[in-house]
Amino acid sequence: MVALIFVVACVVAVFALAIRRASIETWAIAAAAAALIWQTGLIDGRFHAPALGLSGLIGWLPAIVLGLLSIASLRRSWLTGPVYHGIKKALPRVSDTESQALEAGTIGFDAEIFSGRPSWERLRAVPPIVLTEEERAFLDGPTAELCAMIDDWKIRHGEREIPDEIWDFAKRHGFLGMLISKQHGGLGFSAQAQSLILGKIASRSADVVTIVMVPNSLGPGELIEKYGTDEQKHYYLPRLAKGIDVPCFSLTGPTSGSDAATMSDIGWVTRGIHDGKDVLGIRLSWDKRYITLGPKATLVGLAFHLFDPENILGKGEDIGITVALIPADHPGVNIGRRHLPSGAAFPNGPNWGKDVFIPMEWVIGGQRMAGNGWRMLMECLAAGRAISLPSSGAAGAKAMLRFTTAYGRIRKQFGLAVAKMEGLEEPLTRMIETAYVNEAGRAVTAAMVSTGEKPSVISAIMKYQSTERLRQSVNDAMDLHGGRGICDGPSNYLQSAYQMVPVGITVEGANILTRSLITFAQGALRSHPYLFAEIKACQDPDTKRGLAAFDTAFRNHISFSLSNAFGAFAHNITGGLFAPVPEKAYGTAEWYRQLGRASRNFALVADVTVAILGGGLKTRQKLTGRLADALSELYLLACTLKRYEDDGKPANDRLIVELAARNGLYRFQQAIGGTIDNFPNVFVRILLRALVFPFGRPYKPANDRLGHEVVKLAIQPGEVRDRLTREIYISRDVNDPTGLLEVTMEKVVAAEEAERKLDRAIRSGAVKRFHGIDWLADAERLGILTTAEAGQLREVEALTARVIAVDHFDPAELKPHYMKPGHNMLGAQGSADVSRPRSAAAE
Ligand SMILES: Cc1cc2nc3c(=O)[nH]c(=O)nc-3n(C[C@H](O)[C@H](O)[C@H](O)COP(=O)(O)OP(=O)(O)OC[C@H]3O[C@@H](n4cnc5c(N)ncnc54)[C@H](O)[C@@H]3O)c2cc1C
Repeated sequence: MVALIFVVACVVAVFALAIRRASIETWAIAAAAAALIWQTGLIDGRFHAPALGLSGLIGWLPAIVLGLLSIASLRRSWLTGPVYHGIKKALPRVSDTESQALEAGTIGFDAEIFSGRPSWERLRAVPPIVLTEEERAFLDGPTAELCAMIDDWKIRHGEREIPDEIWDFAKRHGFLGMLISKQHGGLGFSAQAQSLILGKIASRSADVVTIVMVPNSLGPGELIEKYGTDEQKHYYLPRLAKGIDVPCFSLTGPTSGSDAATMSDIGWVTRGIHDGKDVLGIRLSWDKRYITLGPKATLVGLAFHLFDPENILGKGEDIGITVALIPADHPGVNIGRRHLPSGAAFPNGPNWGKDVFIPMEWVIGGQRMAGNGWRMLMECLAAGRAISLPSSGAAGAKAMLRFTTAYGRIRKQFGLAVAKMEGLEEPLTRMIETAYVNEAGRAVTAAMVSTGEKPSVISAIMKYQSTERLRQSVNDAMDLHGGRGICDGPSNYLQSAYQMVPVGITVEGANILTRSLITFAQGALRSHPYLFAEIKACQDPDTKRGLAAFDTAFRNHISFSLSNAFGAFAHNITGGLFAPVPEKAYGTAEWYRQLGRASRNFALVADVTVAILGGGLKTRQKLTGRLADALSELYLLACTLKRYEDDGKPANDRLIVELAARNGLYRFQQAIGGTIDNFPNVFVRILLRALVFPFGRPYKPANDRLGHEVVKLAIQPGEVRDRLTREIYISRDVNDPTGLLEVTMEKVVAAEEAERKLDRAIRSGAVKRFHGIDWLADAERLGILTTAEAGQLREVEALTARVIAVDHFDPAELKPHYMKPGHNMLGAQGSADVSRPRSAAAE
């Protein structure tokens, strides 16, 4: 019995020390104390001298080993030294561009998840949505006005252009310069305001938002604001802010897409004639494609690799990636031709040039910043990626839900609104969850950027998750609409999103790359508490200094790993009962607990994966992709809980939060379980399975009943539907296809009682509903409907007929006007433009 108590006490002590990340010295003292208590009989009060001989030595062994390892010099020669030298030898060289990408941006709540013990206070410290009066007025004023001006069909089909009046309005009101500071003539809006403005426009037109988004993200405006010379700032920023100059940013080329840093666009430092003077400059040759706004741009931001064979700049021969500003009308710049991305209308096209001379002062930041292009781009990308596509991802999901809940309520088949059919409840449930969660992630992330963060890992999560989830929402919306969503025309409000989803998926880091390579690999290096320090120490050319730094990081890393293993196991056998919950988490305490438990499991599996796979991480993309998904689910669930609190915990939203939490945890479990099941090392697989799933897989997705309850809330006009679709553009004009939906839905709901009476009469055969019969007049005559009810239904039927109508055209109207006779796909009037580089001409 005494022995049993002793063993239990030791196990408890081991758990407590491991979870509290005890130092090696503390472990040594604890092991010595345990040996002393056991060997001297202190445990049962029969004190005697410690046992000697082999058995005595075995009892003291852990204390002796740990004691010796707590002496720095011994530890370094026996343990950390050999590990350090082993890793140093095996570590692949990290290229300059890779390390610049890794060091760009900031870490924030992602590090909390990697730590396995997220600080809820840190999450709560992120401000809720706050706009200045000026920003709110802009969102409700000019932004809504711009949305009202948009005729999506005219843009996508009629003109395949953004009309001049839209460009003029956007320029006049400063939409193109929202991120440019007031000092330089821009609006100087916060990231939160920019995100909401972009979202509102995106909910109306995916084409129009693109012309606003690009100048406010990687367009050269931000690069100039942050890195430009004073002359560049004073000249270009006011022009960009007012749209006098329209920018584009050219990075991608035929051979350098995802791997943009390997571009073959080249510049040589040389002297040349500019404006009649002999000046220092760069001779450039480039070939870029897919460049948004290119065909309309007056100012081209161009990324190229700069060389200086004569070392004129004193930075060596290979200077590196450099970014310059080139007026589109500069001699030798070929620009203006258009691609046709997904049949959309926003300007996008190639540009190229051969041996074009530019003066050195056109480099952003001047000669001083030559070679710093990649770092500049990565830093701006970290913030921009957190705003632009997540804003469209959230707005798109909200708009899809708004339109689909209305149409699903209006459209009846088998005598029932299609939104009320159980089969369609499934896609609707998914859409509700996505609208809520995408918006939660958008709002929290934008608030982080507003406070000065440039969250590189979180922005990658938001980019791929919000666009991927939007893709599902658009498909779900299409399914519910049936043929009405598929047939295009002026009354189709889904096609624009359907066409543009692949663009969001592909740009700013194509999703598969972002998921499987960037999010977890970068996250593990940046957000893991010790890994980056260990790798940096291994790369330190000063071995002594490197070993000392490595020793500190490695010690902490071991405590961290032990803490995760024991902490995760403890949470998993107690169902997360003891996981920390923040104050006043009424109604959501369970989700905080499960999130804390899941974070522990994530930290454990992530840590082991990195330790075992090491340099092989880049190629094990199915594992890193799953870990990216697991990390994303935890981040988005944290944002969901925060949104619910920031919104004041509306009673009706509690079920939506529960739905999102259950599904998010279930998807987390699938991702982390999939990682463990496919782990290449069988012993690790067995160990992780025992620690993470000691009693099997605990989470189940939200059940059908919960789905039914939330759909019931969302297909009803009112506060839940309004909150789910907040801050998108909502028309109430019956001559606008989306306004017609809104108005009709309300009238359909109001006329439900009368509709039921009519349905009963039709089913009983008292009234017949066929072409050529006025069944409403019959029902009124038979006393089934009152005159007011018959009038109400007459209006509903007329509106419904318009909502479900599908456009049809004279065949001549549908001839694509970009295929005029004599044109071919290569160049103007049937001949490929021979001055183009071969790769571009061969597209
Ligand atoms: C409409 C549109 C607008 C654009 N606007 C601009 C712009 O304004 N400026 C600009 O510079 N560029 C722009 N781009 C380019 C865009 O950024 C690239 O298309 C993108 O980087 C992907 O390159 P790619 O299309 O060549 O695909 P590829 O690089 O050929 O990728 C093909 C597939 O392979 C995957 N993949 C590639 N490498 C890896 C890896 N290591 N691990 C796992 N998966 C990988 C990708 O995820 C993708 O699924 C635009 C593109 C489009 C289509």
